[in-house]
Amino acid sequence: MFLGRLNTEQVFPYPSVLSEEQEQTLQELVGPLTRFFEEVNNPARNDELEQVEDATMQGLKEMGAFGLQVPPEMGGLGLSNTQYARLVEIVGQHDLGVGITLGAHQSIGFKGLLLYGTPAQKKKYLPRLATGETVAAFCLTEPGSGSDAASIRTRAQPSPCGTFYTLDGSKIWISNGGLAEIFTVFAKTPLRDEGTGETKEKITAFIVERGFGGVTRRRWGSGRPTRQRFTSRGCGSQPRTSWGCLGGGFKVAMNILNNGRFGMAAAMAGTMRGVLAKAVEHAANRTQFGDKIHNFGVIQEKLARMALLQYVTESMAYMISANMDQGATDFQIEAAISKIFGSEAAWTVTDECIQVMGGMGFMQVSGTPGLWGG
Ligand SMILES: Cc1cc2nc3c(=O)[nH]c(=O)nc-3n(C[C@H](O)[C@H](O)[C@H](O)COP(=O)(O)OP(=O)(O)OC[C@H]3O[C@@H](n4cnc5c(N)ncnc54)[C@H](O)[C@@H]3O)c2cc1C
Repeated sequence: MFLGRLNTEQVFPYPSVLSEEQEQTLQELVGPLTRFFEEVNNPARNDELEQVEDATMQGLKEMGAFGLQVPPEMGGLGLSNTQYARLVEIVGQHDLGVGITLGAHQSIGFKGLLLYGTPAQKKKYLPRLATGETVAAFCLTEPGSGSDAASIRTRAQPSPCGTFYTLDGSKIWISNGGLAEIFTVFAKTPLRDEGTGETKEKITAFIVERGFGGVTRRRWGSGRPTRQRFTSRGCGSQPRTSWGCLGGGFKVAMNILNNGRFGMAAAMAGTMRGVLAKAVEHAANRTQFGDKIHNFGVIQEKLARMALLQYVTESMAYMISANMDQGATDFQIEAAISKIFGSEAAWTVTDECIQVMGGMGFMQVSGTPGLWGG
């Protein structure tokens, strides 16, 4: 679409991909999840604790929220991308901290297993990941390697006997780094080019279990899992726990990220929906200069622009998820656009909400942030 090579059947009419059965499954999940966020989860408390409360984690696990796209035969809910987006939108509407924990786990943490795992690897890991008994994390970024992901320095050295690899290096910014038991780790392996006889360092994706030993972590900044530093030193991993072909790890990493990006747009669409509702509620009830402030043109324009950004983001999220569900493989640019647009739109909408709420938007009352309270 972005390149102007429009396949009209993909976009007109706006794709509707859910079967009646899928729609029904979704409805059975939407109600309980919404009620859970309204009645059980406490975002202010999670913020204060700098981690998701145990009771919330347990409740989400019981609802199957840790294995939304894992096939039912492996213990998950087997949802399509569009069904996943609808639930992620609800999460984004209520608590982005919970969203990061769930997203880092399934959108990137074990997505590689879903996309590239062998049947044996899936059977071994997915059932416990789907129930949340074990949590996953995605480890690409390093202190010296961010946007330039191909420049990672973590190395995986094959053992002389050829039965395992030893990983040595440091990772940083690993969401769920403190909680996870299973890590998707990218490391460089020496590979001999049969044509030239040269040995080159190429990236390979590994499954690392915390239980292998040698994984240490260090707090960095506050206690949020994302800000922890992940160090894997002397960590043995069986060759069969590497994904894709040896040396094909960069493509694996990019495909995992490409596959997860629409989820960010869906979450942001939910965030904007929630923020807009708070702004509207305040504007409809706050009187200044003898009138409800929602009757002032400048407030109306703010609300209209907020609604516009929410609508565009939501439309992009579901266009991409539907295209993916229809089997499209060329969605990377649109997915990247949706992530950037959605994030920036949510930032703007949140700022506008703070303006509409005046001082109440800025203040935190008795441990409850004004904007996010309740
Ligand atoms: C909340 C959060 C969660 C994260 N979770 C994970 C995770 O679970 N797993 C993981 O592996 N990583 C994670 N990351 C890391 C994230 O992927 C990196 O932060 C990102 O890749 C950017 O790297 P950097 O922070 O080192 O910035 P840098 O790459 O150092 O970039 C700094 C600035 O320079 C700009 N820049 C860089 N290169 C160029 C260029 N060629 N031309 C112009 N401008 C350029 C960038 O756009 C940016 O503005 C997370 C980050 C955050 C903030």
